[in-house]
Amino acid sequence: MLDRSNELTAWDRDHFFHPSTHMGMHARGESPTRVIAGGEGVWITDTSGRKSLDAFAGLYCVNVGYGRTEIADAIGEQARELAYYHAYVGHGTEASITLAKMIIDRAPEGMSRVYFGLSGSDANETNIKLIWYYNNVLGRPEKKKIISRWRGYHGSGVMTGSLTGLELFHNAFDLPRAPILHTEAPYYFRRSDRSMSEEQFSQHCADKLEEMILAEGPDTVAAFIGEPILGTGGIVPPPAGYWQKIQAVLKKYDVLLVADEVVTGFGRLGTMFGSDHYRMQPDLITIAKGLTSAYAPLSGVIVSDRVWQVLVQGSDQLGALGHGWTYSAHPICAAAGVANLELIDTLDLVTNAGETGAYFRKALADAVGSHANVGDVRGDGLMAAVEFVEDRDDRQFFDPSRKIGPQVAAALLERGVIGRAMPQGDILGFAPPLCLTREEADIVVEHTADAVKHVF
Ligand code: PLP
Repeated sequence: MLDRSNELTAWDRDHFFHPSTHMGMHARGESPTRVIAGGEGVWITDTSGRKSLDAFAGLYCVNVGYGRTEIADAIGEQARELAYYHAYVGHGTEASITLAKMIIDRAPEGMSRVYFGLSGSDANETNIKLIWYYNNVLGRPEKKKIISRWRGYHGSGVMTGSLTGLELFHNAFDLPRAPILHTEAPYYFRRSDRSMSEEQFSQHCADKLEEMILAEGPDTVAAFIGEPILGTGGIVPPPAGYWQKIQAVLKKYDVLLVADEVVTGFGRLGTMFGSDHYRMQPDLITIAKGLTSAYAPLSGVIVSDRVWQVLVQGSDQLGALGHGWTYSAHPICAAAGVANLELIDTLDLVTNAGETGAYFRKALADAVGSHANVGDVRGDGLMAAVEFVEDRDDRQFFDPSRKIGPQVAAALLERGVIGRAMPQGDILGFAPPLCLTREEADIVVEHTADAVKHVF
């Protein structure tokens, strides 16, 4: 194949406005353009023929791995048969109806319906509207505030960008503050009082939440949203007892729980949902990424029976729900979803995520955990992170201008492995495809240890 890298790089710098990218550096050619051409299993190849082991599954989404012909075939067949029909006023396709049934069959107990969207962000926008609608139908027009966590990530829309608790996603956008509030991140490694046990820190987080609800007035607080394990905020598993203590507070004040399972849905933690893993009982669940393994864009809100009953009451009072996307339940994306969920079952990828995940995290901790500049190695299932510190004993963090996380990620990439420098803090994240083998995990670990040695 003709190498068009130079031509594509020039077009890219002049015409492509990339998401989450330093615009000036990119346009001036100070940051690399990499044109990805192919993928197979956990490997991707660029137009210069260079292969990399993608230990972040794209953006933690290519869960079944690259190059799955079963999904490609399902997409092709659906496109030939019926590329599109909308889902408004009761329309469906075999693919979208089948997928809804498959999702509910796999979802935690008490879940009733799926509302389809295209991205995790739009699904969380749907959540916000459903929460407000729900409280209006129940005659509680004041109960509208939504509590999120610092370091939570819930999208980049106007309201969902506001839910996201990371400064980078707020900077200079003038996102609406109200009615969104942020409470303490369940980040045990960064707790201010180091004498606290995990259970005590979880209690502290639950107390902070309760204080906030009481200060705002319980009649004004509608919902709490959280990822079962913090993802983009640093891949931080909840401390022991966290979700039990948080849920007790939510129950006490009749506050809905939204589990944002965009990353954890469909197997990443070794259970079908993160809610199963941490024994959460959400009222709404956000899904995206792993639903199609990113072979086509598709997201959803899984609505519990409790919320569904109120929504039905709402349309009996108010008429049809005035909320819809043209591409909701797009047949091609739904066909990709059906083939993807079948593949996850056939290959038993949920079990593999749990088992290979445990193997990978132990090997990573053994390889770099005692390094003088590694403060924490953590994770759950097939999610892992290494956090770098200037001083291990004092838990002193590096000045962000030194960009230690990006340096380690760059050194790792030079060695042929993709990890992600998480956006806040010097944290190297991993979330490989769920089909990762032990041999592939060994490659990631070996090159990570080498990259760490190179940077320090
Ligand atoms: N929620 C979580 C937990 C995510 O990690 C993401 C994306 O990474 C989103 C929502 C937003 O999804 P999208 O980028 O598809 O809008």
